[in-house]
Formats: sequence, C-alpha cells, structure tokens
Amino acid sequence: MHPTLMERLAILSDAAKYDASCASSGTEKRDSSREGGLGSTEGAGICHAYAPDGRCISLLKILLTNFCVYDCAYCINRSSSNVQRARFTPEEVVWLTMEFYRRNYIEGLFLSSGIIRSSDHTMEQMVRIARELRTTHGFRGYIHLKTIPEASPALVEEAGLYADRLSINIELPTDAGIAELAPEKRPDGIRRAMAEVRLKIEEASEPTVRTKTRQRFAPAGQSTQMIVGADGANDATILSTSARLYGSFALRRVYYSAFSPIPDASARLPPTKPPLMREHRLYQADWLYRFYGFGIEEITSAQTDGMLDLDVDPKLAWALAHRERFPVDINVAEREMLLRVPGFGVKAVNAILAARRHRRIRLDDLAKLRVSLRKIRPFVIAEDWSPLRLTDRGDLRGLLMPEPVQLSLL
Ligand code: SF4
Repeated sequence: MHPTLMERLAILSDAAKYDASCASSGTEKRDSSREGGLGSTEGAGICHAYAPDGRCISLLKILLTNFCVYDCAYCINRSSSNVQRARFTPEEVVWLTMEFYRRNYIEGLFLSSGIIRSSDHTMEQMVRIARELRTTHGFRGYIHLKTIPEASPALVEEAGLYADRLSINIELPTDAGIAELAPEKRPDGIRRAMAEVRLKIEEASEPTVRTKTRQRFAPAGQSTQMIVGADGANDATILSTSARLYGSFALRRVYYSAFSPIPDASARLPPTKPPLMREHRLYQADWLYRFYGFGIEEITSAQTDGMLDLDVDPKLAWALAHRERFPVDINVAEREMLLRVPGFGVKAVNAILAARRHRRIRLDDLAKLRVSLRKIRPFVIAEDWSPLRLTDRGDLRGLLMPEPVQLSLL
C-alpha cells in the first residue's frame, strides 16, 4: 500500500537525521512583518527540535526522497540498502513547509535528497520547491538546499537565488576514501561545484552604484559535511582537508558527523561508531583554526598519532604541550597570545583588552567575565596573581581534567 503523507514524513525526516549541516547562522535578516510575505529568518518564537544526539534541528529537515541510484557504503539510503523507501512530490514539500511554518513549528526548511533518475532531475525538483516557496508563497523563512553531486551549474545557480545556504557534502576527508566508499562520487566534481558557488557568491555580493549587493545569492554562504570515522583518516588529515576547503572555497562551516553504523553495513566499514567526543573535539579544533589564530599543525602536533586528545580540549592540550609560552601576563600580552590561554574566549579577551586601557586587571576581574579560574590560573599572571611553579607541575594535566580529584590550585 502506498504510504500516507504522514508515513512518508516519518520516513524522510528520519532519513535526513544523518546530515549534520543545518545551522541557520549567518544569513541575512528578513522579516515578513516589515517586508510583507510570510516568515522570518530572525528566529523569534521559533520552536526547536533536537535530534537524539542533541543537535538542534529547528528546521523542517527532510529528504525529498530516500531512493538513490548511488551506492555509498556509509549511507543508509544507498541503492543496495534494505530500508523502506518513500518520496515526496515538490508540491507536498511546499505544502508541509508552509503548514509547519504557519504553526510556528519550524524556522525554515533544510532539504536534501537521494538521487532519483539523474542528478539534474533531482536538482530540478529541489529548485522547484525553493522557487515555489519564494515566488508563489512569499516564504521568507530560511532555506538550506543540499546541492546534488554533478548537477548542472545552471541549476545550482538558480538554487542560489532562492536558498539562504547551499551545501554540497565532501563526505570523506580524502579522495582515496571517497574512491573506496563512494565510488560513484567524483571529488573533482564536488570541488568544482564548490568553486562555482564561491564565485557566484562573490560576484553577487559586489556592491553596485545603487545597492549594497549586486544580487541575492545564497547569503548564508556554503557549507559542507565530512563523515568522521568511516574511513581510516585521522584528525590531522580531517582538519587539513577542512583548512583547504575553508581557504579554497570560502566555506562558512565544515560540519563533522560521527559515522553511525547502519543495518547490513559493508564489511569495509568499522563495526562501531567513533566516540561522539571525537566529533566534539574536531569542532573545537575547527573553531581554534578559524577564530583563534591556530594553525592546524599546531593543534594536532601535540599528539603523535594525529588524533586529538579526547580527555582535554585542543587548546588546553596545546598549552600543556607548550608550557614555555606560559604564564601570560594579561596586563601586557598581545591579543594573539591572550587568545591562546585555555579558558579565554574571544569575548573575554576583548573585555580584557578594553578594561586594561583604564586599570590593571586582577583575578577577580576575570571571575566577573565568567571564565573558569580553575582553568586559567596556571596560565596567567594578573595584578594580584602569579602561578609561581604551578605552570610547570608534572600533574597539571590531571588537575585540569574536566572531573578532577578535588584539589585546590591555590
Ligand atoms: S548519493 Fe547521497 S543519498 Fe545517495 S547513497 Fe550517496 S550519500 Fe546516500
């Protein structure tokens, strides 16, 4: 019997949960209360849902279909997988989005798809959905479209006119990994599509005589996702690939998705999933690279096997391996060095720099910035504090572990 719309919704929203790349940060602000139409990307009154692993999925996150002609070994929707299949029509996706939006269940749509018939046929349907939402229904909520590998540049270009964000999954950190586990995908084609999207975004964002930007094209940029732990790539390889992608294609985000074992999995895949902490550490390392001035080799060089330390965060791991750079005098140190102090975020560093123009900073002042004094004490000198030999203590790592034995550092 043909599954009902609700049954298909259950199947196709469940099938989409493996995709991590659905954050809506960074898009332009639009609000129907000011501009007409329907919806807003500004988020007030939006209901959020959480995936079983804790990720926020406040978008209607679905696949157009979980039928797929490709056979990527790590994917539950691969052609040889024995899962229940379903498919929406474009009209159904438009209707569902509008109805969920009107009920304030979602702030937008995240739409991906298996490949049906051909890449272009699938991409055409996805573009049609975004076009209908924007032009027929005046939908002003957030739209994230996954672009289909090997879809024609003209379709990707049209997608960018309607979507806030476009993304194409790089899937695995090395070309060899893709050849092994997703042989129908072509890494060169994926990178070419990313380059084309970058070019379009840059062209469209150039100002004209009358407007700040030339054209609206994927204002929230492009992102990608890498699966962690399906192949043998270590964290150093994963992060180096991310750095290349950020540099070459101006990606807003690389999302890391810990590989989940799937039913009837290929023997080429590991039998168990990697620890979720590995995914978390990769996000932290990615953050250090993008916002804290760390090089990838600095972050990963603390470990000999190229894997991030699961017990302590990457910034603390670096500081523990480079004690000669500490303690840092917070009343005179450069911004770049303050950013390397474990426990200091960008906000705290900016606040320190602003405050020290007027007075000398004490440890109490740091407490008011809500930084963890336990974490920073071994690494800083303040007006009323010097760590003396604490920085060099052999057991410092143990003292700073997330759940340490209760020892006072004072
Ligand atoms: S193309 Fe996408 S949906 Fe199809 S098998 Fe590969 S990863 Fe899965």
